[in-house]
Amino acid sequence: MKKIELHWKIIIGLVLGVVIGLLLSQVPSGKSFTVNWIKPFGTIFVNLLKLIAIPLIMGSLIKGVSDLKDISKFKTMGIKTVVIYIGTTVVAIVIGLSLVNFFKPGEGISPETVLKLKETYLTNGSLQSKLTEAQFRRSQGPLQFIVDVVPSNIIQAMGDNKSMLQVIAFTLFLGVCLLLIDEKKAKPLKDFFDSLNEVILKMIDIIMLFAPYAVFSLLATVVVTSDDMDVLIALLKYASVVVIGLVLMIVFYCFCISVFVKKSPFWFLKNISPAQLLAFSTSSSAATLPVTMERVEEHLGVKKEVSSFVLPVGATINMDGTSLYQAIAAVFIMQVLWPEGLNFQNQLIIIVTALLASVGSAAVPGAGMVMLLIVLDSIGFPKDLLPIGLALIFAVDRPLDMLRTTVNVTGDATVAMLINKSEK
Ligand code: ASP
Repeated sequence: MKKIELHWKIIIGLVLGVVIGLLLSQVPSGKSFTVNWIKPFGTIFVNLLKLIAIPLIMGSLIKGVSDLKDISKFKTMGIKTVVIYIGTTVVAIVIGLSLVNFFKPGEGISPETVLKLKETYLTNGSLQSKLTEAQFRRSQGPLQFIVDVVPSNIIQAMGDNKSMLQVIAFTLFLGVCLLLIDEKKAKPLKDFFDSLNEVILKMIDIIMLFAPYAVFSLLATVVVTSDDMDVLIALLKYASVVVIGLVLMIVFYCFCISVFVKKSPFWFLKNISPAQLLAFSTSSSAATLPVTMERVEEHLGVKKEVSSFVLPVGATINMDGTSLYQAIAAVFIMQVLWPEGLNFQNQLIIIVTALLASVGSAAVPGAGMVMLLIVLDSIGFPKDLLPIGLALIFAVDRPLDMLRTTVNVTGDATVAMLINKSEK
């Protein structure tokens, strides 16, 4: 019998998860059954992926840097990576702003709907914690994000998946210094990381065998715990605008792959699809990173020295889907609650702040929404309306998060392909 390919198995898991989730949400104790007996398998899987992220970054980045031999090559690659990341993010924001200004989804929202959303979500614990987190971010100085890149304790940084950039900074420093010392002295450490890298790649292979079941569990949980249909329908126009934008971003990536990399976009999408499906199911670029790296290196043929740098950095700072979403959500909220603030100047500010906000968003579920508050804040959005603004879009945040994370991961893979091509 022909072996079913991994992405098909994951898709089957995904569809079954949705169907079983829908069925279980109709039965009285379906929700608690799902949470107690199905959800844990998805959680274990996501934990396993997070577990190997840090050793994988360290192993593969050291290997990548030490294979480079020439440090100046690394500098040009670093600059190219950051420039292309900024470029794709600006494209995403411009697409988002154009769509939201063209379709004006906020204009169809009635005052009754606003009231209903406000009543339903304003007291929601998760919404409140997002507000507190945004408040904390706001209180930090403008250069804090640079300070945050340099860890004061590497063991502590390695113990927190949110400190991925710190681990990257330390590993790069270590890798570069390995090149600078005597080769004989550097060899044992290089061999150690080499071997670590191989073992982690094997671990990914084994963990991925479990992916279809995990995706089933994650999707069933999302469906069972999602909000009622009425609210979702009220926000359908807004959600559709975001979805159209995200689809256009995928088209843009396909264009880049075909024009600049001279490869078939279908081949690209087919090979990256397991990572996309995991991004969709976990809503976390960080959790998906090991799989993205494996797909890009082993299936898309990107050299390790490129992927080991471009992808971990991308997972933390390049979020095209998130920035597109932030631009649309900010303008949508303004259309509903603060139309007088909708001017050209504010839209220009949104371009800059959504760019910075997507860099600052952690690669975990729901992070984009926290940084959205910072975007709104920067254009002088009335502070008392901020919680209401969040309540307005809260109901559809999870499905949109799943989609924007898929775009974030695809964007990172596309840039890795572009850099790889340019390095040849
Ligand atoms: N969940 C997204 C990611 O991990 C970030 C966000 O937009 O919330 O890429």
